[in-house]
Amino acid sequence: MIIELKNNTDSKQSEDFAAAHEGIRLFYNERLLVVTPSSMKQTKPQFDSIIEKSWLMDSDIQLASRKFQAETRNIKIGNYTSGMAQTLLTIGPCGVESEEMIEQTAQLIIETGLTSIRAGAFKPRTSPYSFQGMGEDGLKLLAKMRDKYGLSVVTEVRDSTHIDMIIDYTDVVQIGAKAMYDHGILRACGQSQKPILIKRGFGTTLQEFVQAAEFVLSGGNPNVMLCERGIRTFETKSRFTLDLCGVAYLKENTNLPVILDPSHAMGYSYGVPDLARACMAMGVDGLLIEVHPNPMLAKSDAAQQLTHNQFRALFETLKPIANAVGRSII
Ligand code: PEP
Ligand code: MN
Repeated sequence: MIIELKNNTDSKQSEDFAAAHEGIRLFYNERLLVVTPSSMKQTKPQFDSIIEKSWLMDSDIQLASRKFQAETRNIKIGNYTSGMAQTLLTIGPCGVESEEMIEQTAQLIIETGLTSIRAGAFKPRTSPYSFQGMGEDGLKLLAKMRDKYGLSVVTEVRDSTHIDMIIDYTDVVQIGAKAMYDHGILRACGQSQKPILIKRGFGTTLQEFVQAAEFVLSGGNPNVMLCERGIRTFETKSRFTLDLCGVAYLKENTNLPVILDPSHAMGYSYGVPDLARACMAMGVDGLLIEVHPNPMLAKSDAAQQLTHNQFRALFETLKPIANAVGRSII
C-alpha cells in the first residue's frame, strides 16, 4: 500500500505513522509517502486526519506501477526525456578497450547525430581469466568523450564499492544482468538521483525484475529504467531469448521507461539488425546496441558487436520505423 501524507504533516506525525504501519517513510517527488508491504490493506483509523490519498496494491510492484503513477516517468539524460515519444539509441562497445576505439565510437555517434555512448569499464565476466575491463582508466576515457563532445555516458557497475566512483563519471548507471540481485548496489543507487538502468537477470521473472527496481525507487531515486536483454530458455541457438511479451507487460503495467538490448539477447551480429527493428516497432524508450570498430578483435562479446558500417545501415532502417510508431530517435 502506498500512503501519501498531507503536506502539512510534521515529521513526528509521519514517523509515528510509519512506526505504526511497518513501512518505508519516503520523501518522494516532493510528496511524503509511506510504502508498506502490499499485503497491508488498511491504515489505523487514528491517522485518518493526516492521510491525503492512498493506493491499494495487489503486489509489491508499487512505486513502479501505473496504478500509482499512470504516465511513464520523465527521466532526463542529456537532451533526452523519457515518456516524451523519444527513443534513446545508445551505442558503443561491450567494454572500453583503448582511447582510440572510444574516440572512433564517439565519431560514429556524432556522425549519426546521436547523443549517448555505452561501454563497460568494469566487466562482470563469467570466467576470472577473461578481460575484466580497464577499471577507472576506462571511466576516464568515457568521461573525456562527455567533456569533449557532450555525449551522455552509460556504464555498468559490477561492485557496490565502485558505485560512488562510477556515479562521478557517468550519466546513467547500468546494473547488469548478473548484478541486479545485489542489494548493496541497488540500495546505493537508491541514494543517488542518477538515472539507473537495471538489466533483467537471465532467470529473473518480471515480478522479480520490477521488484529490483522497487529497491531503488523506495530508496528515494525515482529515475529508474528497465532493460530487457534476453532470458535463458531451453533454446541454445541464440545466446538468450529476447522476451518481447515481457516488454509488452512492462509497458502496460509499469511507469518505468523500457529499454531493449538486442545485442546480448541474440549473441550473434547477424540477428541484431532484425531484432533492433522489431524492438523499435514496439515503441520502446531506448535501445542499447553494441558496436565495435573491429568486432573480431573485441576483448568481450566479439560475436555480437556490429561493425560501424553495419550500424550505419541499420540506423537508416530504424528511422522510418520510429516515424511509423510516432517516435524520434535521439
Ligand atoms: C553489457 O551490457 O555489456 C553486459 C554485460 O550486459 P548484461 O549485464 O546484460 O549481460
Ligand atoms: Mn557486452
